[in-house]
Amino acid sequence: MSTDNLEQSLHSGQSGQSGTATLPPEAPGPTADVPRGEEPAPQESSRNSSPASLAGMLVEAGILSADQVAKVQEIARRERQSLGRILVRDGLVLSRDMATLIALYLGLTMVDLRSETIDPKSIALVPEDLARKHLVLAIKHNEGHLSVAMTDPTDLQLIQDLAARTGFIIDPVIATADDILEQIDLSYRLTQSLKVDTLAEEGGHTDERVTAKHLREALPTQVISLLLSQALQDRASDIHVEPTETLLRIRFRIDGILHEIMQLPMEMHPALISRLKIMSGMNIAERRRPQDGQLNFEALNRTVDVRVAVSNTANGEMCVLRLLDNKKFTLLSLDQLGFGGDALDSYRRLLQLPYGMVVICGPTGSGKSTTLYASVLQMDRSEKKVISIEDPVEYRINDASQMQVNHEAGITFATALRSILRLDPDVILVGEIRDQETAGIATQAALTGHLVLTSLHANDSVSGLLRLRDLGVPPYLIASSLGGLVAQRMVRLVCSNCKEMSRRPLAEQQAYTAEIGESQERFMYGAGCNICAHTGYHGRMGVFEIMTMSDTIRQLFLEDAPRHRLWEQAVSEGTKSLKHDGMLKVGAGKTTPYEVMRVLFSLE
Ligand SMILES: [Zn+2]
Repeated sequence: MSTDNLEQSLHSGQSGQSGTATLPPEAPGPTADVPRGEEPAPQESSRNSSPASLAGMLVEAGILSADQVAKVQEIARRERQSLGRILVRDGLVLSRDMATLIALYLGLTMVDLRSETIDPKSIALVPEDLARKHLVLAIKHNEGHLSVAMTDPTDLQLIQDLAARTGFIIDPVIATADDILEQIDLSYRLTQSLKVDTLAEEGGHTDERVTAKHLREALPTQVISLLLSQALQDRASDIHVEPTETLLRIRFRIDGILHEIMQLPMEMHPALISRLKIMSGMNIAERRRPQDGQLNFEALNRTVDVRVAVSNTANGEMCVLRLLDNKKFTLLSLDQLGFGGDALDSYRRLLQLPYGMVVICGPTGSGKSTTLYASVLQMDRSEKKVISIEDPVEYRINDASQMQVNHEAGITFATALRSILRLDPDVILVGEIRDQETAGIATQAALTGHLVLTSLHANDSVSGLLRLRDLGVPPYLIASSLGGLVAQRMVRLVCSNCKEMSRRPLAEQQAYTAEIGESQERFMYGAGCNICAHTGYHGRMGVFEIMTMSDTIRQLFLEDAPRHRLWEQAVSEGTKSLKHDGMLKVGAGKTTPYEVMRVLFSLE
């Protein structure tokens, strides 16, 4: 750094006092304490005493003793690292606590980098090694000001250095060390590639253009593999690449919910989509019609199959990558799925029926097939012949014969089911009943000595029962073949790494009390951490409602009793509603009132 630059940056900093402050006016400490200009490397000890130095704040807030701080400062000096970094690294202060403390003391804005729009050109203003060393991330620039997320804005030397390097007045904002590190990991590789791209467009050198052309070919592949690794690390099931009018939005679906991960410039869109098409075996020239493809991806010592779908939208081609990770299925047993206590007993009894039909009800994405698989997995398949017809086969089950629907080859649920009956099965798994023909054959099979497990698109157990009738199956056939119905949904689990009790809004308290009868103000919530990709949730479990067909329910059904009569009867026989089961899981701290409400309260 030249002396000129330094002086320039200092000048910018000083002129900032009139409204364009490098530090807010409420924080006079460092500006008063630290010598400006004459002594570019202030001693750490000179900041000790002031409460507006990080060390001073920690002591004043009673988080650490003066002795402790002095020790850490010594370590920081020895390792040439920032004080904040050592504090968080050694677990002395939680990174979120520290950020909140600093923001509070200095009256600075605290930003959540995950929801912040980060400008790639701003990121590129600060070299990656500097960003990593000091935990800073430049997020946007405007009229000579550069907004920089940092953990320690009292480090004047750092601010001066940044100002000198970038030529901007530095406006510090506060973010947690974890968040900044994560964004550094995520952003720099992308911006480095971007930088080359931008240079190629703006620069006039022939040599660079040629190089850029090669890079354009290689670049999207890098972006794709980066996105796939991040998705795998975040346990995402899908990556959405969506063009908007102005930019390219990347979202991950984690535990069933979409989260925006980043925004990329629209310039990257055509090359990225083309590369994806090539990698997944699609026709690169076809832009109007939807296409499907597949690609393999190796990471974390395993190969992940990725299904790729591209469709045209008003803003251009949209792409969804679905990560098929078989590992998710392998360990699921019924109690891991979320069947608890009484529900587990009731469901086990249904699965032990010698014949009859058991129907899992729920909308798309409610985990029906996971439950069907878990049900078959807990059966003794050496003694029972299990045959399935699925669309598609999502997971291979040992010792079971699995068939896949193939419309082109004329294999439908109905035709396959007829042929299965000739193969002497004990248990038949029918992926889903969608039409009258399949419903008819499945009920017949259940009546003729087979246990039929299947699923139905219906909101709750009584709706499932009525839906079978609406599909055209005669009521007497339903009444005599049906063993029971299970309605289910998936709720996200509170992340066990960052869970803590927190006071929740009245609406959540009331929703809980309405089901459980006890009032409660505080519930277990995840604060957000790296393990849960800052969602506060990690993994999912089912909530269930089980209706076993009793003689009384059969009779009511045959008499065409109204829905509420059927439900009242089921409740009187011990059926617990989906909401009730959900709130029981809230009471156990496994999920949150918000989550149960999100999944189940939209029904009414
Ligand atoms: Zn967490």
